[in-house]
Amino acid sequence: MNHSKSSILYEEAVKYIPGGVNSPVRAFKAVGLEPIFADYAEGSRLTDVDGNTYIDYICSWGPLLLGHSPKAIVEGIEEVVAKGTSYGVATAIEVEMAKLLVEAYSAIDKVRMVNSGTEATMSALRVARGYTGRNKILKFEGCYHGHSDALLVQSGSGTLTYGVPTSPGVPEDVVKHTLVARYNDLASVHALFEANKGEIAAVIVEPIAGNMGVIEGKKAFLQGLRELCSKEGTVLIFDEVITGFRIAYGGASEYFGVAPDMVCFGKIIGAGLPVGAYGGKSEIMDMVSPIGTVYQAGTLSGNPLAMYMGKKNLELLKTNQEVYKVLATKATKLTEGFKANLEKLGLEFTVNCVGSLVCLFFANGRIENYDDVKRCDTELFTIYYKKMMEKGILLPPAQFEGMFLSAAHSDEDIEATIKANYEALEMVKIY
Ligand code: PMP
Repeated sequence: MNHSKSSILYEEAVKYIPGGVNSPVRAFKAVGLEPIFADYAEGSRLTDVDGNTYIDYICSWGPLLLGHSPKAIVEGIEEVVAKGTSYGVATAIEVEMAKLLVEAYSAIDKVRMVNSGTEATMSALRVARGYTGRNKILKFEGCYHGHSDALLVQSGSGTLTYGVPTSPGVPEDVVKHTLVARYNDLASVHALFEANKGEIAAVIVEPIAGNMGVIEGKKAFLQGLRELCSKEGTVLIFDEVITGFRIAYGGASEYFGVAPDMVCFGKIIGAGLPVGAYGGKSEIMDMVSPIGTVYQAGTLSGNPLAMYMGKKNLELLKTNQEVYKVLATKATKLTEGFKANLEKLGLEFTVNCVGSLVCLFFANGRIENYDDVKRCDTELFTIYYKKMMEKGILLPPAQFEGMFLSAAHSDEDIEATIKANYEALEMVKIY
């Protein structure tokens, strides 16, 4: 596979951009490769500047549930642009979008638009702290909630991949209020509540962890968090930046039947344009400026282009909810195919699948938390990764990331992926 044009771009990029990329995982460093540069994408396929076309399982890390640039979503955006790209005053579509989000999530009454998942979680925590008058927050090992200071503690995604549990530049004073518990381990949460009685403002959790591979939160764990937070007057925040509108129309909250006090959204509600949002019960959200005293703002928040795409995406999903079953069927087929290949080759690696998220872990046994994930053999993953890429399968370039399926992935795509998986695993086996 020829990557010469990507290589030339990379050489140029590193002169002007740290590492040549605008987000660390795009560097492909964890799999010992240079970045590819995208040219265009359509449906389930991405084509790079060298003309290589891949079946894409990065799918922009989640927002493209219906694939790249579905006509039904992008159609008409030129007319929106022609009317203006940003106004700095309110627009009707922001109201329609907020209504859609609130109607999809019975746990939330009001919502505020922001520009990214990072902003959503950062803002939700501020509001929760303002609401409770407490400082401490509790997060889970291996969960990633964006790169705001208070949350960059033992997090997943790029930080887990690169083995930097906290980042230089985050003062100890800032993270001293961040407590870290074990995912899927209620006892570790109880212990922290016991030791910090009446001090914890919020618990923030990915109900399905998508940044240490894919790990489903156990229902009893999430219910336990719900009960504990209610008892202790702590705000329970579901970070649904990945799971929102992906796992079900009402996200993980609907999937598990557990109601959080606040929800954070991102990616998917912009269908590929920069957007995020956080919402909650009225009494919490009414803390937010201008009616409340908790300050949070954004020049481009509720941007008309992002709202246009996001609204069309949500409306399509709302009226076609059978898509979730279709997606789950595709993901199950992929998972079963991977498992059959592993068995044929006498390998015992683990495959986790929830909804349209799939992850093949290069480790044996159950993968339920960050300690389990750390057992993965990243060297084997790298061998596997390179072979898959040669076969035209574009996986997220790190062991600790899940594959994102979209409705645009066809049965043929899935079959081709299973076939490539077998051949790549053969390489792993001989290694
Ligand atoms: N929360 C979760 C669960 C995420 O997966 C991410 C990003 N992948 C974020 C928050 C941060 O979102 P963004 O990259 O849009 O800031």
